[in-house]
This record gives sequence, structure tokens and C-alpha cells, in this order.
Amino acid sequence: MKSTMRISSEVKPHAVKYLNTTALNISSSKILGIRVHHVTLDETLSIIGTMVFSGNRHLVVPLNPELVMTAQNNSAFRDVVNNASLVLPDGVGIVLASWLMGDPLRERVTGIDTVRHLAVLAQRQGLRLFLLGAAPGVAERAALRLQELHPGLQIAGTYAGSPHPDEEREICRRIEEADPQILLVAYGAPRQEIWVARNLSKLKVPVAICVGGTFDFIAGVSPRAPRWLQVFGLEWPYRLIREPRRWRRMLALPLFAAAVVRYRFTTTY
Ligand code: UDP
Repeated sequence: MKSTMRISSEVKPHAVKYLNTTALNISSSKILGIRVHHVTLDETLSIIGTMVFSGNRHLVVPLNPELVMTAQNNSAFRDVVNNASLVLPDGVGIVLASWLMGDPLRERVTGIDTVRHLAVLAQRQGLRLFLLGAAPGVAERAALRLQELHPGLQIAGTYAGSPHPDEEREICRRIEEADPQILLVAYGAPRQEIWVARNLSKLKVPVAICVGGTFDFIAGVSPRAPRWLQVFGLEWPYRLIREPRRWRRMLALPLFAAAVVRYRFTTTY
């Protein structure tokens, strides 16, 4: 909670002004006041492809229940998410909540699947990616793995850095020099979203996507849950068993479920 408050105070009110939510005209709903777009994975890729050449700057945020709960108490973070160009239904809890609210999302679109498929699109269209964040060396390993899988994929650059404001100038300089079209930011939520909101206007990058632990999965640092657990929406207990330090963050899940049920049965439509 403490670090959330500290981060929230780092966001200047003007930071989200550049974000363009309406130009692409994608339908959306709100879950506990937080926007999520009605998109499939295929649509996501095509929207991101369009964003690259739109002449605007765009933030893409994969949304899970933990983030919805963070946004309840952190208005700066809530503004960043609600002003993002594209908010993906990343968590299974988001899809279940949409069904309960009577405004069902068609499918779950995770950050990791988006990045994996985006690499195919980037290779075919010659789009340049920059991988920012994760522990030192991880973004480099993820980049090499993506290039092994998709020969010819252009990686404009990689850098671990840190989301601390003191490092922003140097990180922005590196990104500008590398001149990518898509920036993948892995500083964990909500730091990564806030980092992008503060910095995207200083960069010439058309699309920034917040990707959480994606580089760890691609680099093989963290194994992803088996496919059958993913299908049943049970990635979160798998991750909790492998990374018990996440238990405190996972407390947000029952709180989210309770808040959604309470909202559903106390709000009249
Ligand atoms: N991370 C980072 N710097 C930080 C905090 C996190 O580079 O100050 C990286 C971390 O190494 C990991 C990624 O952010 O690769 C995602 O972290 P986490 O698992 O907390 O986020 P989630 O996937 O749950 O959004």
C-alpha cells in the first residue's frame, strides 16, 4: 500500500492527456469503474498494427483483478488505465466478472499471448521492438529467444533499467536512440503503467505495452502454467505456489470477487 501511494504521488495530472482512447472506436465496459475493451486476440493484434501507423501515441494495458483493486484506491493509476488506448481482459476474473455483470467479454486476452503473437506480426511487417525492464539480462534473453523463434525479427534494443524517476532521462535517451515502434515495458503493475504515462509523451514511440512478467516467461526464468491450467483459468494458483511471495497481492482476488458480487446485486441497471 505504501509503495502504491508513493508511486501515485509521482504522477502529474497532465501525464495522461496524450492518451487517445476514442479514435479507434473500440467498444468497452467498466468493471468496478475500470475500463476494459471488448476485443479478441486477433482484434488486439490488428488494433496494435493500426496504432503503429496512427500518428498518435498509445498505451496498451492488460487488466487483471489485482489491478482493478489497486485502481480502487489509487486515482492516478485509475486515470492512467481509464485513459489507455486499449485495455485487454488479461485475467480470467475479468472475463467472469463481465459475465456476471451481464456484459460478457468474448475471450481472455493475456499480455504474454499478445507479445508472442505480436512477435510474428512484427517479423512479417518489419516492426521494431524495444524490451524495457525485468531483472538485468532477462530482456536480452527474451529478445534472443524471440529472434530464435522468429528469425529476422527486429529488436531495436533491450534495457533493464529501473522505474525510478532518476533513471528516466537515461532510459528515454536509449529508447530514442534505438527508435522502436513498439515498446514493451516490464516493471510490474502499477509501476509500469505509471512509468509509461509519465514518459510516453517524451518519446516518439507510437505504442507502449505493459507486459508484467512476460520477459521472465519468454526467457524461461519463470515457467508458464501448463496449458490445461490456463484453459481452466488456474494460472494464478500455479504462480502462487511457485512464487509464494505473491500471497499478499493475491489477497486482492477474493476482495475483487466480493466487490463484483456486491456491485451486481446492489446496483440497478
Ligand atoms: N520489475 C522490474 N523492476 C521493478 C519491479 C519489477 O524490472 O522495480 C520486473 C520484474 O523483474 C518482472 C516484472 O517486472 O520481470 C514483473 O514483475 P511482477 O511479477 O511483480 O509483475 P506482474 O507480472 O505480476 O505484473
